[in-house]
This record gives sequence, C-alpha cells and structure tokens, in this order.
Amino acid sequence: MENVLSWDREVDCLVMGGGCAGLCAALVAAIKGQSVLLCEASDQVGGTTSTSGGTIWVPGTRQSQKTPTPDSIEQARIYLNDEVGNFGQVELRETFLQAGPEVIDFLHQNTDVHFKVNSPYPDYHAERPGGAKGGRALSPLPLDGRLLGSHMARLRPPRPEFMILGGMMVGRDEIKYLIRPWRSWTALKTSAKLVGRYLMDRLTNPRGTRLLLGNALIGRLLLSLTKTGTQVEYNARLLELIVEQGKVLGAVVEVDGVRQQILARRGVILATGGCAASASWRKELFKGPLPHTLAFEGNQGEGVQAALKVGGQLDLNHASPFFWMPASIMRWADQRTTTYPHIRDRPKPGLIAVNANGQRFVNEANSYHDFVSAMFHTHADQPTQPAFLICDRRFIHEYGLGVIHPIWQMLNYFVQSKYLVSAPTLAALAAKIGLNAMALQSSVNLHNADALLGQDSAFGKGHLALNRYNGDPDQNPNPCLRPIEKAPFYALAVHPAPIGSSVGLKTNAHAQVLAHDGQAIQGLYACGNDMSSIMGGRYPGPGITLGPALVFAYLAACHISA
Ligand SMILES: Cc1cc2nc3c(=O)[nH]c(=O)nc-3n(C[C@H](O)[C@H](O)[C@H](O)COP(=O)(O)OP(=O)(O)OC[C@H]3O[C@@H](n4cnc5c(N)ncnc54)[C@H](O)[C@@H]3O)c2cc1C
Repeated sequence: MENVLSWDREVDCLVMGGGCAGLCAALVAAIKGQSVLLCEASDQVGGTTSTSGGTIWVPGTRQSQKTPTPDSIEQARIYLNDEVGNFGQVELRETFLQAGPEVIDFLHQNTDVHFKVNSPYPDYHAERPGGAKGGRALSPLPLDGRLLGSHMARLRPPRPEFMILGGMMVGRDEIKYLIRPWRSWTALKTSAKLVGRYLMDRLTNPRGTRLLLGNALIGRLLLSLTKTGTQVEYNARLLELIVEQGKVLGAVVEVDGVRQQILARRGVILATGGCAASASWRKELFKGPLPHTLAFEGNQGEGVQAALKVGGQLDLNHASPFFWMPASIMRWADQRTTTYPHIRDRPKPGLIAVNANGQRFVNEANSYHDFVSAMFHTHADQPTQPAFLICDRRFIHEYGLGVIHPIWQMLNYFVQSKYLVSAPTLAALAAKIGLNAMALQSSVNLHNADALLGQDSAFGKGHLALNRYNGDPDQNPNPCLRPIEKAPFYALAVHPAPIGSSVGLKTNAHAQVLAHDGQAIQGLYACGNDMSSIMGGRYPGPGITLGPALVFAYLAACHISA
C-alpha cells in the first residue's frame, strides 16, 4: 500500500500478537522508553504459550551456575551443532547462545519475569555430545494471579484437562502427593495446603489463582507489562502492513471490527504465533493429511502472510516444518472436542505403542517430537497413523491415560465415547481395533519378558536420561518398564499434531525480516513462531521454542529502541 496519508493512531513500536514473544517484545521496548501498542486478535493474551509447559531452553544462565550441573554456552554450542547441523538459520544459533543469559538477567533485574532451573530436566538427547542431563532448561516461577487484579480475566487459562477440581493447576512434583495424599505426612500436608488455597480462591475467582507453567510465564509477562503502563488492545487483528518505498510504516489493524491505520514510527514486531493452527498452511507445508493441531486456534499464519506480502521470505531449510506431539481425540457428550497432548503418560511403565501391524515402532519414553517422527518414518512402510497406546487397567489407575486422570475414573464413559477401546484379552482388543492379534500378543509378550529383566531389547526404553526423568522412580529396576498383564486391556489411538511451526520468516540477528535479496526490510521484525526456528525442525530439548522466542523478542525490541 503506497502514499498513506492519515493515521488513526501513532506509536513508536507496534507489536502484533500477545503470546510469549509479543508480550516480551512489548515489555522490553516499553522499558527501553518506547511508546508501545500491543494488538492481540483474541480477547485474551497467552496464545499457545498460556497452555504450554512454560519451560524455556536457554543455555549458560546465571541460574544454572548454582546447580550441581552448571551449564555452559560452549557445551550447548557443541550440542546444537550435533543436533541441528545445517538446518535453520545456522548463524542465528550463535546469536541466541550469546544473548540468552543476558536476556534472562535483564528480565530478572527489570521485570517480574523470573525463572528457576528445572534441575534434573535433561535435554532430549542428553547422551549426545554437549547434551545436558539437567541445569539447562528453566521454568517460570509460580505466580499469585491475584497480583494481576482485573487483568487476570485477560489471561488465557490452561487446558481444562491439565487442571483438577475444575480449575486448579498442579505442578509436576505435586501430582504424586495429590493422587495419594494418605501416603505420607508430607503428602497430606501438601495436598491440604494446595486444595485449601484453591477452595479459598474459588470463593472469589472463576478458577485457581496459583499460576504455574505457561500460565505463570504469561501471567508474569502481563503483570510486568501492565506496570509499564503499556496499552494492550484486545480483539485487534493484524490485516496488513503498510509500506512506503520498501519501509514498513505501520499496519492496518481491525479493532473491534473497525479498521484502523496505525503508524509505527520505529517498527512493527510480528509475533502472531506462526501458522500451525491453519489447515491450509499445514497442507502447504506438510504435504499430507494433518487434521489435528495443538496450537492455539488463532495462530493462522496471519503475521507470516502479511510479511510475505511485503517482500519477506520463508526459511524452508527445516528437518520438519512443525514441532510435534502425539495427540488423542476425545469427543465429549456436549459436542466439545479435546485434542490431548501425550507428554507424561507414554514414558510410564506398563504401556507400549504399536502400529497397525501390532508391532512396536519406537521407544515410547522418547520425546513427543521423536515419537511422532517415528510414526511418520514407520508409516512409510506400515500404517502408523494413528498409532495405538496399549496398556492394562492398573496402568490407567496409577498414571491416567490421555484425558483420563489417575484414580478418579469412569472408564466405561470413555469406552462408550469411543475414546478408549477395552477388551478382556489382547486378541479381542486387537480384533476391535483391526490389528493382527498374533502380532500384538507377541509384541506384548516380548515387552513383558524384557520388563521383568528391566531391559528393553527392542528400543532401549528407560536407558536415556529423558526416559528416566519421565518414568516412575518407584518402578525398579527400570522406571519405564512393567509387564502389561492383567485384564482388561485398553487401546487408545494417537495422531500426529503440531504444537507450533518451525518454518517461519527468515530474519537477521536483530530479528529483522529479510527480503529475497537478503536485505532487512526496514521497520519489520518477527519473533516467536512467526520467525523461522533456529532449531530447524529438530527438537533438542525442553523449551526450545519459548527460549528463542524470548531471546529474539528481546533483540527485536532492543534494535527498535536503539
Ligand atoms: C501442550 C503444549 C506444551 C508446550 N510446552 C512447551 C514448553 O514447555 N516449552 C516450549 O518452548 N514450548 C512449548 N510448547 C510450544 C509453545 O507453546 C509455542 O511454540 C509457543 O507458545 C509459541 O509462542 P508465540 O509467542 O510465538 O505464540 P503464541 O503464544 O501462540 O501467541 C500468539 C498470539 O498471537 C495472536 N494472533 C494471531 N494472529 C493474530 C493477528 N492477525 N493479529 C494479532 N494477534 C494475532 C494469537 O491470538 C496469540 O495470542 C508447547 C505447546 C503445547 C501445545
């Protein structure tokens, strides 16, 4: 669009999208003295981030130095070179490594966005050169949502199935206490304290105000942003960018249904969450059927599309266009559908995953991204979409499965809803889901024999640091292996689902969007999943989308403010 004469609003910095990347960019630019407007298309901030684990992968931080496994940038560089190789924008990996610790320090010193080391959380291939067995990934500190006051209602809540009692968030280390509060005095005390606080909360709030994980990260960013006085415009959707002589001057934004032309004197930062929720983008980038997604529904690739229209380019040099999780699909009686991410149940002992031939195809306790990559790989020869998780009654009772929580279960309801398939024998189970009965029986037999020895002869389940981290420490000798033996048996179908896009806009080290000639488009920046991931479609460790999202949001804001 040329020769735009009138502006409805004027700011220094216009940020599009209120997820982790957009909030961080707006926050840093505001602290650096810019007048900032953050436009969020929906009526709440948070996007996919607010429903995520909130873990950030940032090597070599100050926090890490205080742990028994202090991390270093040198080791992380070795690890990334080994893991990612030539995928993605290789030169930006160094930018990320060098800036990471500075960004975390800046946030600690200037905002309420504080992190702690997730000490034993290992890299996903921690055994590879430079891999860390802990001390590299950080988690946001929990937040008392009451500090947000009326802004709490603007924070997208976590996934309902990740909460208990209709609205209470639970930390990874708290689950074991809440499942069996009578197990010890500590368990009883912790459970009573958590539930008591929650019940008090509910007297005045629609959900619990003890925020954890991705909700804590977004809550902390929002809290800090409100303290700067920055305006957040809700129901404000980016329609297009306004360009004059190759420079982005601002954007056309639809605010509550009204088009506004907003001048961004120093630049526009795109942080609209990438394209993983868009069926057409998934078709374009994946080139195969991909009906399900775990990304926030609003992430339709609008920021990326707007940048392409003004000369930006996509970086397609990725091992995979998306990051993946296996997901099961629950259709509730009220017609709601839940796409459930299988993160923590797969690695527990007493479960295998099989393809349509009834054969195992993967170490079930590997990362979600590796699990789905194995689905694709096997599917080339043997149908593996969906794959089936197979377990017995005891497994579901102790660990839950998908949307089914442990202990409190109405398994018949889930069977009748066709979420879960149940049968008194493995042969009958195989018949119900169309698998070869002999093959399934023999897969379970082999697994059970291995489980007794504590050795997974086929895939080495339980031998990697990540496997053990997510296994059951009370299960010996292998925290990920236990025979599947007591009827009834259960099967649950899982499908590949993207959690975010890896392919995105090509940028330079300041997060400026690059044109086809390799030059930066003046006035245009991208971060979060709008920017091409420096991981190039590989998934080296926990937090590899949110870590770079914070770092490049910071770098974009610094450049705009300079
Ligand atoms: C279950 C689950 C767990 C995960 N756990 C982790 C984890 O622990 N660590 C990690 O690194 N990654 C994790 N991820 C991935 C991570 O959540 C995403 O990669 C990340 O949230 C993307 O951040 P973002 O800021 O780019 O986008 P988002 O957080 O999705 O925010 C994008 C925002 O832009 C808005 N928007 C969209 N279009 C427009 C428009 N046209 N105009 C204005 N606004 C617009 C959206 O409404 C949304 O609010 C997880 C994902 C899932 C599904």
